[in-house]
Amino acid sequence: MTSPPASLMTPLAARVARVEKETHDTFTLSVEPADGQPLAGFAAGQFSMLYVYGVGELPISISGDPDEPGRLVYTVRSVGLATHALVSRRPGDVVGVRGPFGRPWPLETARGKDVLIVAGGIGLAPLRPAIYDILRHRDDYVRLIVLYGARSPKDLLFRKQLAAWGRLPDTQVLVTVDYGGTSWRGHVGVVTTLFRHLRMHPAQTVALICGPEIMMRFVVRQLESRGVPDSEIFLSMERNMKCAVGSCGHCQLGPYFVCKDGPVFSYEQMRPWMEKHEL
Ligand SMILES: Cc1cc2nc3c(=O)[nH]c(=O)nc-3n(C[C@H](O)[C@H](O)[C@H](O)COP(=O)(O)OP(=O)(O)OC[C@H]3O[C@@H](n4cnc5c(N)ncnc54)[C@H](O)[C@@H]3O)c2cc1C
Repeated sequence: MTSPPASLMTPLAARVARVEKETHDTFTLSVEPADGQPLAGFAAGQFSMLYVYGVGELPISISGDPDEPGRLVYTVRSVGLATHALVSRRPGDVVGVRGPFGRPWPLETARGKDVLIVAGGIGLAPLRPAIYDILRHRDDYVRLIVLYGARSPKDLLFRKQLAAWGRLPDTQVLVTVDYGGTSWRGHVGVVTTLFRHLRMHPAQTVALICGPEIMMRFVVRQLESRGVPDSEIFLSMERNMKCAVGSCGHCQLGPYFVCKDGPVFSYEQMRPWMEKHEL
């Protein structure tokens, strides 16, 4: 096996420009070049390898607008050592950035069709660039539907944006939580319960899904039962990864490396591997 080019393995220095608190455990960081070398642009659905010096490197999806050059935006949920270190960065701190890596959402396949976006929890972050892209090229698509589920109201990401998107023409945004508490007036239940509120045109729908794997399995079942073809269903898969360029094998999933063949796959590709447990 040949070694990957050094340019793909060497992090660029990036300065944290802004840190915004989204929820009790999730923060959005914007980073800008630290040493004059521009950060590469990206396509919706791609991820970077972010290096917190002295702590570690981890894959994080880009959650900002692909058409906003000069800065990269990430939304990170603090679940362990590296993510905690990342969300604890302050403006002015420097982190390392490699990438962007991976296959993006296939927005060209969705042109002329309805786009159904289904997200669970932090899964809305990798889908937000696709929503920005669709809204910027709105005439290329028919309806935009966003279904979003989180554990509780305090875990909902991008609440103001969701509300604003829901007011746009030909756009439907439905949000649900598993546990509502006393003050929540919206839907309660897992994200698949929102399907009963939808009028779908399965033959002209492309679905983009990101969330916990169990959620994605149930969403796929709903879509299949409504007649959306497997080739029109796309999922973003998550596996532990190290090199991000298909060299180390950490993220192997069946015949694929999630870092370079994904993270976005069609369900047609994923079906045999998602049906196998523990893969
Ligand atoms: C392609 C790709 C894109 C990603 N994009 C994002 C993103 O945009 N935002 C983001 O916050 N994360 C994202 N992740 C997940 C992120 O990389 C992991 O959460 C991170 O590597 C965990 O590192 P850690 O050192 O903080 O946690 P660790 O110390 O490795 O883990 C601490 C504990 O948290 C658990 N854990 C690890 N990951 C998760 C998780 N995702 N959810 C729940 N529990 C977990 C572990 O099982 C362990 O119990 C992405 C992962 C991949 C593969």
